[in-house]
Amino acid sequence: MKTISILGSTGSIGVNTLDVVARNPEQFKVCGLAAGNNIDLLVEQTRKFRPRAISVMNPAKRDELKDKLSGEKVEILCGEEGASVIASLPESDLLVSAIVGSAGLVPTLAGIAAGKDLALANKETLVVAGELVLKAALGKSRILPVDSEHSAIFQALNGESQKRVKKITLTASGGPFRTFTQEQMEHVTVADALKHPNWNMGAKITIDSATMMNKGLEYIEAKWLFGLETEVDIVVHAQSIIHSMVEFVDTSIIAQLGIPDMRVPIAYALSYPDRLQLDLPSLDLAAIGKLTFEAPDYERFPCLKLAQEVLREGKTYPAVLNAANEIAVQAFLDELISYKEIPETIRRTLDSHKAVSLTCIEDVLAADLWARENARKQITVVH
Ligand code: NDP
Repeated sequence: MKTISILGSTGSIGVNTLDVVARNPEQFKVCGLAAGNNIDLLVEQTRKFRPRAISVMNPAKRDELKDKLSGEKVEILCGEEGASVIASLPESDLLVSAIVGSAGLVPTLAGIAAGKDLALANKETLVVAGELVLKAALGKSRILPVDSEHSAIFQALNGESQKRVKKITLTASGGPFRTFTQEQMEHVTVADALKHPNWNMGAKITIDSATMMNKGLEYIEAKWLFGLETEVDIVVHAQSIIHSMVEFVDTSIIAQLGIPDMRVPIAYALSYPDRLQLDLPSLDLAAIGKLTFEAPDYERFPCLKLAQEVLREGKTYPAVLNAANEIAVQAFLDELISYKEIPETIRRTLDSHKAVSLTCIEDVLAADLWARENARKQITVVH
């Protein structure tokens, strides 16, 4: 029996994680849940999974939650501090980190400091502070990837030495605008961008998939997880059946395939090194017919190039890219800027940034704050 806590329990990854838990009640127990604003779903989850402690975004939500759960035996916390308590509950064996954005960084680090194994969905944590996170986790906490691509690589590597790896290939669906021309991209709407062809995910990552920033963030995540010196390639594979692959020094390639369902990589991270029995449909390759591959187009998807550039530049640039992206994506969702203005906002924010070396987490948080304010200004100036 593993005891787990979940940051972001009301989101797409959180809900899928609880579905895996509910299907395997003899293997998992939930001790803590942290969410943002979705009180109703958190109440439902609390009644069903009986965690010892829960947390929400702010004191007003906490008070609302206290009313709704009066009479229940559960500790109710709030804010970053509350989420950090959930992340480090003494009885938990594993922390599922699935808050969206860099808001997940501090609570995830709290879990690492408490020595919890980490099932990491919140890729932004590694993007903004990869080196600091890995240093903190060293010898204390195992990082088990939840992102389907990184789970695929982790499974393909299966403990093989890094020295035997020639190249990692991340697959990308290409998102809803894979075949769009620059001209067509001028006119896309929020509703168009939210229609991911293969995956059902939260709004932010869905927009990141439409701009291919998601693949850029995953590129950075892969470099931190599997070695900065490792060559990482990106190939567009529209069907999302091959989740990623590893080429070894003898040119042999091991790929991981499966239906596009996040419960599969979540279950692997929860049960590693074991595998859970999942009652899901098997992949039917004959029905799929063909798998296609194409090179990514860096001109139509400039976010991909921006992400690769900031990793090369290092320092506070990745934190700035991430924060500017979060602001730009939200502004797009709020219909304040167009799809094409997302990379432009990020580029302008990066151009006006004076980077500093990262020595501690406060450097990351300061860069994140600066970039948010600057990206907001860029948006107001243009509009
Ligand atoms: P969602 O938007 O669906 O969920 C985000 C979760 O974070 C919600 O529970 C939300 O709470 C919570 N949250 C947001 N801000 C805060 C905060 N400040 N404090 C506490 N909780 C907060 O996102 P996803 O589940 O899609 O994605 C989560 C992470 O997993 C992202 O980093 C994403 O890139 C990564 N990921 C997601 C995949 C997917 O299939 N969805 C695949 C691979 C990676 P509430 O809703 O209550 O406000």
